[in-house]
This record gives sequence, structure tokens and C-alpha cells, in this order.
Amino acid sequence: MNLVDRDRHSIWHPYSSVGSPSPIYPVVAAEGVRLKLEDGRELIDGMSSWWCAVHGYNHPVLNEAAMQQLDKMSHVMFGGLTHPPAVELAETLVELSPWGLQKVFFVDSGSVAIEAAMKMALQTQIARGQSQRHLFLSPRGGYHGDTLDAMSVCDPITGMHTLFEGVLPKQVFIERPEPAFGEHCTEQHLVQLEQVFAEQGDQLAAMILEPIVQGAGGMRFYAPEYLQAARRLCDEHGVLLIADEIATGFGRSGKLFAVEHADITPDILCVGKALTGGYLSLAAVLTTDEMANDIASGEPGVFMHGPTFMGNPLACAIAKASIDLLCANDWQQQVLQIEQGLHQGLAPAKTFTHVAEVRVLGAIGVVELTHPVDMSSVQPMFVERGVWVRPFGKLVYLMPPFVMSAGDLAQLTDALVDVVANLQIKDGVAVPLSA
Ligand SMILES: *Cc1c(COP(=O)(O)O)cnc(C)c1O
Repeated sequence: MNLVDRDRHSIWHPYSSVGSPSPIYPVVAAEGVRLKLEDGRELIDGMSSWWCAVHGYNHPVLNEAAMQQLDKMSHVMFGGLTHPPAVELAETLVELSPWGLQKVFFVDSGSVAIEAAMKMALQTQIARGQSQRHLFLSPRGGYHGDTLDAMSVCDPITGMHTLFEGVLPKQVFIERPEPAFGEHCTEQHLVQLEQVFAEQGDQLAAMILEPIVQGAGGMRFYAPEYLQAARRLCDEHGVLLIADEIATGFGRSGKLFAVEHADITPDILCVGKALTGGYLSLAAVLTTDEMANDIASGEPGVFMHGPTFMGNPLACAIAKASIDLLCANDWQQQVLQIEQGLHQGLAPAKTFTHVAEVRVLGAIGVVELTHPVDMSSVQPMFVERGVWVRPFGKLVYLMPPFVMSAGDLAQLTDALVDVVANLQIKDGVAVPLSA
């Protein structure tokens, strides 16, 4: 049996069923911005492996950091032990993050970072004598991960709440953040936010949101004023603010952290994905001294969380090297160039009747269609054109590695526009013209 058949026989892929007939491609190596398939074809990567591979693949600097750490130790337990990679990474994160975030809790994935952040918020409120505050406020259109509590704050519709109804904790939802990034925010846009705080503010432990960019819940960009209003209302009502920067962290939105667009500091900041430049799974939860001290002074006096692979030295060493590389590479310039390339390259798609909107922010480019894409028939169209793009729902989008050259980016956007040009809407789905 070939690799694909063996795979189909026994493996689940993200959001798929075992044995599903949708196309799957064996990749045997990756270097720079190119994925190498088993059959020898090379694809320009438009996805950064879901926001992660900001430096591209097989990077000599990150390889070297991994090799050096491997020679010392790849893992050691974090209970009662510490090591240089964890300390150096924590210090770097504190230094780079918005002012006031001083304490770092390492975890092994984004979803677990959200779980830990939610527990941290609850423990803080309990320590402050506010144990009646056990709800989380979340805007619709959000995505925060796939574990149960993370799911409870995801968009109730796209987050599949109905499937798990009765099991998920019931949280408080408000409409998507408005207006869009770049549009003028009026009082009208904030009415619902004000209202929910006025009505339920005393039951809320925290508000959780993705700052500026809502990722997997719809790839939308919203105005910084909304975030500023959320910060103000949280302060007024004793509610903590959790910023989920797992997708946006490390430059993707044009700022190192998306909260910087609004010039606010959250009480809790979650990072993951690009933290290790896409080498290993690692995430971190940052918080203030104030919160850490409150937790320490409450019952039971400790933060009740501790993953087995917490602070994994190999992952921490690579993460430190990745952040250093980001700074050395002048990421701001890289992201700016990609932003310009995306604006220019995706613009032709605006005129297509089956395209609802084209939007770009930082190194994120989105073509939103009027109808959902039929993944099985459309995915091969990208591969045939030598690019790796993975649409979901109505969204065909790009988040290229920051190191992509102008030429490769043009090839990528040209291929995307060509694929979209060759789609038609049939029975409410976007399918190839030839279908
Ligand atoms: C991907 C993502 C998560 C979940 O991270 P995992 O590492 O997949 O568990 C949470 N929040 C946001 C904003 C994400 O993009």
C-alpha cells in the first residue's frame, strides 16, 4: 500500500473522518517557503502551517538551536527543576510583551494555554473574594481551541456548541466586534458591549477575545477602539481581560502583538503557534504580578495546573532562537512588504461576482467568497498551480511565512486569483468551472 492508502487506513486528520476520500498529499521535506511532495512536486506555502512557520521551514538558525539543545537534553520535568532555555525564553517574552505582563506559565499547546488562562482568571477572582464571577464573556466569531472549556468560548455556531450541548459550560456571548479595522467606531458599535457589562458584569470572571484579528472563526479584522472599550469596561466592572494572541502573536498583524494596535495591556496574554517558529508545540500564558500575587495569597495559594511537558527545554530553546531571529530579520519590514504584495496581488479578485470581500492586514490576506468552497474539488486546483492554500468555509486566505520573496508571493497570489477565477457557484457551493 502507498502512504496515502496506509494513512487513510488508520489516521484521523483535523476535522475529518477516517477513510475520508478528500485529497491528501504526502509531504517528505520542506525548506524555505516550499513544501516538497513525495512525487517531487514543490508547493509555495501560503499557510505557514496554520500561522506557525514565520521563518519558513528547515531554517539553519533554528536547526542549530535545536541541535545544540538536543546535545544537552531534550526534556526534563519542570516540577522542582529549572533550566536556561525556560528562563531565557520567559525573560524574553516579558521583555517583548506589553508593559505589565511579568509572569509566564508554559504549556504545551494553544488550547491548553486557554484552559490555563481561564483557570487563572477564576482563581484570581476567587482569591479576590469574587467567587460568584464564574462566567466568561466572548464575542461571536471567536476561536480559542478545541478542548471543552476552550470550545465553550468559541463562536457557538461555528464552534459546534450544539453537538456538545449540555456538556459545555454556558458562557455569555455578544455580537462580533464591529466596526471593521480601518472603519470609524461610533457609540452605536459599542452599545451591546456596554449593555452586557451593565447587566451581567458582576457575574463575569473575564472577557476573552482575539485582539483585532478573529482567526479560525471567520478571518475578520476589527477596529482597535472596540478593544479599548473592552479594556475600559473590564476595568470598570472588575472583569479580567484575556487576549488570545495564539494566532496573532509575533508580528502577523503588523504589530508584534495585536493588542498594540489599541495600545492596551490585557490581564492575561496567551501565545502559541509561531512561538517556536513552527518547530514544536509550545504555548505560554503571561500575566501581571498583581494577578500572580492575588493567586498566591488566596486558597490554595498555588496555581492548580502543571502539564507533563511544561517548559520543554527543546521547544523553549527553539522559541528563544525564533524570537531572536524575528528581531534580527527586521520582521516589521518583512510583514509590511508582504502586506503590500497581498494588497496588490489579491486586488483582481475584488471584481469577481462570487467574491464578497478581499481584505488584508499585516501578513494576512483573505478572499471571502459568497458561498462555501467545496474542498475536495478545489484543493487540487491549488496543488496543480504549485501552491499550498487550504480554504475553509467561504474563506480562501493566505498567511505566508514572513521570509517569502516578492516573486514567490506574486506567484502565490496569482495562483489564488486564478483558482478563484475558475470557480462557479453551483447548488450553493463554490466548485471548479469544469464541474
Ligand atoms: C490555534 C488557536 C488556538 C488553539 O491552539 P492549538 O495549539 O491548536 O491548541 C487557540 N486560539 C487561537 C486564536 C488559535 O488560532
